[in-house]
Amino acid sequence: MRYISTRGQAPPLDFSDVLLAGLAGDGGLYLPQSWPHFTTAELRALAGLAYPQLAARIMAPFVGRALSFERLSALCDAAWRGFGHPAVCPLRQADTRIFLLDLTRGPTLAFKDMAMQLLARLFDHVLAERDTSITIIGATSGDTGAAAVAAIAGRARARIVMLHPQGRVSAVQRRQMTTQLAPNVTNLAVAGTFDDCQDLVKAMFGDPDLRAGLGLSAVNSINWARVLAQVPYYVAAALALGGPDRPVAFAVPTGNFGNVLAGWIAQRIGLPVARLIVGANSNDILARFLSANDMSLAPVTPTLSPSMDIQVSSNFERLLYVLLDEDPAATARTIGQFRATGRMPVPEAAWRRATQDFAGFALDDEGTLQVMAAHHLATGELIDPHTAVGLAAARARAPVDDSVPVIALETAHPAKFPEAVADATGIHPALPPGLADLFDRPERCTTVANDLAAVTALVRAAAKEPL
Ligand SMILES: *Cc1c(COP(=O)(O)O)cnc(C)c1O
Repeated sequence: MRYISTRGQAPPLDFSDVLLAGLAGDGGLYLPQSWPHFTTAELRALAGLAYPQLAARIMAPFVGRALSFERLSALCDAAWRGFGHPAVCPLRQADTRIFLLDLTRGPTLAFKDMAMQLLARLFDHVLAERDTSITIIGATSGDTGAAAVAAIAGRARARIVMLHPQGRVSAVQRRQMTTQLAPNVTNLAVAGTFDDCQDLVKAMFGDPDLRAGLGLSAVNSINWARVLAQVPYYVAAALALGGPDRPVAFAVPTGNFGNVLAGWIAQRIGLPVARLIVGANSNDILARFLSANDMSLAPVTPTLSPSMDIQVSSNFERLLYVLLDEDPAATARTIGQFRATGRMPVPEAAWRRATQDFAGFALDDEGTLQVMAAHHLATGELIDPHTAVGLAAARARAPVDDSVPVIALETAHPAKFPEAVADATGIHPALPPGLADLFDRPERCTTVANDLAAVTALVRAAAKEPL
């Protein structure tokens, strides 16, 4: 299996190289050169498999010869073994036709663990084959950093340096990073904002000597392997509700468009998906695009669902490439115009094609609190603000045919956003047993000025630590 860049100016690579590269050299995102297809009979045959086995079969044609099937299966087993449920991501009913897919059973209580735990093991495998190591650097406003640090801690071939804005991530999120005491983890609390952290990381990547010398790498959500690792749960959930012999719809609280894109990939490889519903908070650019072909930038508004406080959804470029008839020049031009003018000119026909598969819905903070309260009243269960946005989207944009079930993705555990949950319901959600002592664990974190030379020196020191 070979991968090509959406902008057409980077050489095709195999799965291992795409895993290590992240972004393509021409600034584009990698997509498979040809798409695997699963027949109805092949999908039916997956029903009843344990989740890691199902996942290995779905991912195998995308991985190609980069890993043997036995190795891929073993990595899948290891990746999701520690999740607090034998089904890994259990499905439960929310009301007559709406179901919640619980993706929060990983070590940091958000769906990003689903992909990151596998990604870390794929890195170890590929880096061991090449007898080399990497230093991952990243900036986080919360969830991504926690999931990445938890996944890389203790790995044999990778170090991670994670920058967060000092005092601006929640206490749970900070502790999920800083209580990882493995020697290959460095947490830096930067005296600045998230944007400052991101600028520091970009500057370090922009320095070719530093980049090559330290083997810098990233784990952001444009990495193809992260998107791919999210495809299996769409298949597993559909099979649990009668797929592939019955279509299902999905509702996904969306930020960078990585999660919902995985649902679209599941559809593309043969899973009958009636509709993909994009849930947005007040940062509603994707909802505006889907309802009126209005993809125009607005300032980012902070909300109760911070992991969706995004205006430029990087992974959208992968969908755009397919909407534009797989024309890399048109894709590069369209993205360039968006960057230059703040408005993405998507041709009418391409937009119509997008609306055949996708629908959008936006909900503000007040609506989010109401959904959390109503869900608690109706079921006795607590949900987090991101999940509430998805649940509202599932209801508002469910397909007309009411025999189609709608699966809303639960992307974070309520205890990750305790203030919002308490505001909505009056109940302070408890951390699950595995994390109950999070606030008693020792922390390790270095505070640093918002200064490139100071941060670079700390990254260099971290990269010298033996693995
Ligand atoms: C990251 C995140 C999202 C958004 O997912 P994307 O793949 O960026 O669209 C939604 N909910 C939670 C809890 C997240 O951590």
